[in-house]
Amino acid sequence: MGMPGVGKGTQATRLAERLAVVHLSTGDILREAVKAETDLGLKAKDTMAAGELVSDELIGDMIAERLSRPDIESGFILDGFPRTVIQVGILDGVLERLGIGLDRVVLLGASEQEIVRRLSGRRVCESCGAVYHVDNRPSAKGEACEECDGALVQRPDDTEEVIRERLRVYREQTLPIADAYRQRGLLVEVEGSGAPDEVFERLQAELVAA
Ligand code: AMP
Repeated sequence: MGMPGVGKGTQATRLAERLAVVHLSTGDILREAVKAETDLGLKAKDTMAAGELVSDELIGDMIAERLSRPDIESGFILDGFPRTVIQVGILDGVLERLGIGLDRVVLLGASEQEIVRRLSGRRVCESCGAVYHVDNRPSAKGEACEECDGALVQRPDDTEEVIRERLRVYREQTLPIADAYRQRGLLVEVEGSGAPDEVFERLQAELVAA
C-alpha cells in the first residue's frame, strides 16, 4: 500500500517477477474492465475518472473471483487492495476460506510534492499497461511502448485536480488501514523516494530483515 503514484505498481511487478508469483492489481483489473466495456467496467468508469473509490462490494466480488483461480497457489502480491477498513475485513474472510494468511504488508512512503511530480509525468501504454515517466523513465521509442509498440497515454485520473482528490481519499480512507496491519505486526515501511532500482533494493532488504 501507499499513496497513488508512490510506485506500488512498479515495485509489485518487480517483486512478483523476483518471487515468481502473480501480481494482482485491482487498478489494472478495473482498467482492463473499463477498456473491454464489461459490466464491471461500465460501473467503475466514472468513479475511477473522478479519483474516488469503487464500491467495496464490487471490489470484494472481483477479488474473491480472482483469488479463486489456481495461479495464486504459489503466492501472490496484492497491489492497490485492500484500500478501506471494509476491504480489510473482506480480504480476511476470503483468505480464511482459502486457509492462507498474509506474510507482509508493505507501506511505501513519499512526500506529496514528489507524488504530484511523479503522477503528472506518468505515461502508460494503452495496450499492455507498462508504466513510463516523461523525465525519470522515458521510453526509448518516444511516444510508443518499448515492449509492445502501443501508444503511451496519460491516465484520465492523472490530472492535477483528480490527483489532489485521490490523495485526499488515500489519507481519509486508506491510510487508517496501515495502523490495523501495524497492530497485527505485519507492516513493513519502506521509503519510496528515489529511482525504482534503489527502492527495489531497499524493499528487498526490508523484507529480508522483517
Ligand atoms: P490504482 O491504479 O491502484 O491507482 O487504481 C485506480 C483507481 O481504481 C482508483 O482511483 C479507484 O477508483 C479504483 N480502485 C483500484 N483499487 C481499488 C480498491 N481496492 N477499492 C476501490 N477502488 C479501487
